[in-house]
Amino acid sequence: MKGSLRIARLFGIDVAIHWTFLLLVVYVVFLSTRQQASLAGTLVALAFIGGVFTCVVLHEFGHALTARAFGVKTRHITILPIGGVAALERMPTKPGQELLVAVAGPAVNVVIAAVLLAGVLLVGDVKTPQNPFTQSTGFFGMLALVNIALVVFNMLPAFPMDGGRVLRALLAFRLEYARATRVAAMVGRVMAVGLLVWGVMAGNPVLMIIAVFVYMGGGAEAAAATQRAAMQGTLVGDVMQTSFRTIPSEASLAEAADAVIASSQRDLPVVDAYSGRFEGLLRHDDLAGALSSLDAGTPVSSVMQTNLPTLPPDTPMLDAIEVLRLNPPVLPVTHAGDLVGMLSVGNVNEFLLLHATPRPGQRIRRSRED
Ligand SMILES: [Zn+2]
Repeated sequence: MKGSLRIARLFGIDVAIHWTFLLLVVYVVFLSTRQQASLAGTLVALAFIGGVFTCVVLHEFGHALTARAFGVKTRHITILPIGGVAALERMPTKPGQELLVAVAGPAVNVVIAAVLLAGVLLVGDVKTPQNPFTQSTGFFGMLALVNIALVVFNMLPAFPMDGGRVLRALLAFRLEYARATRVAAMVGRVMAVGLLVWGVMAGNPVLMIIAVFVYMGGGAEAAAATQRAAMQGTLVGDVMQTSFRTIPSEASLAEAADAVIASSQRDLPVVDAYSGRFEGLLRHDDLAGALSSLDAGTPVSSVMQTNLPTLPPDTPMLDAIEVLRLNPPVLPVTHAGDLVGMLSVGNVNEFLLLHATPRPGQRIRRSRED
């Protein structure tokens, strides 16, 4: 994620903090100073934020390691001031699996809260000097309360919270995936409006921000599910671009620049001039970078990307969009080494717009059934 600093790698997954997390540290120091807390009190407050941070990281690992059990990798875990994000490569679409992945995060906080409360009741809590967070309850009792709050907040039945996924998974046992998502998104939006009204009446800006966030989260999730439904049963060969320009590997950067300007095609597939076999892809950004640092006579073969995944035309689109999402904005489609098409983010969107937008009273078109 942009603007994040990698701080650790656990279980093969990078853990990063977003720079805005530093604002939280500054805010805590500000609160402590305003309360005239001692240096010890300020340090306790920062240690408490560190404790909350650890609980949020463990929550995300709950999601990530459960997803791994179903063969889904996690690219990174990033912690923001408002919570964590585990960037799963995809969501498992079997309702039972999605249910377990979604529940695993809050379940970790339930366990932490139970252990902390048991410890506080059996051994007692640590008394702390005056600070903005823990002077009334003790350090670990307050941390237990925060974990309970994390569970309640995350289990609100609205996207993008875990509760929204739980609700969708439960509905998906009975309904089609896209329909289950639309119903869950609707529930989330009704809740968001409720939160907004509550936030306005209570004059609480945090509640209002969360309400807007929840309202938009529902829309994004519903759109993604509609796309998935539209792509069901469609192959790369149905969607790919078949009219495009190629460039031979001996061509120079200057010739490539001319081809890009003449065709308005941003990325050029590079092919062997004699056999026509696909050799690599000359991306627009790489071309622009090379023109500013290399001689214009340099062959495109020294700048092109050769380690891109290629898609056979009979790849299901549901798999292809995941590969494309990880390698945007365009991928070559090859059959027995020959370039037969290009699959780009733009032409996928075009396909969805022209063929797969459900109209009132019309079922989503599925090209295999035509
Ligand atoms: Zn979660």
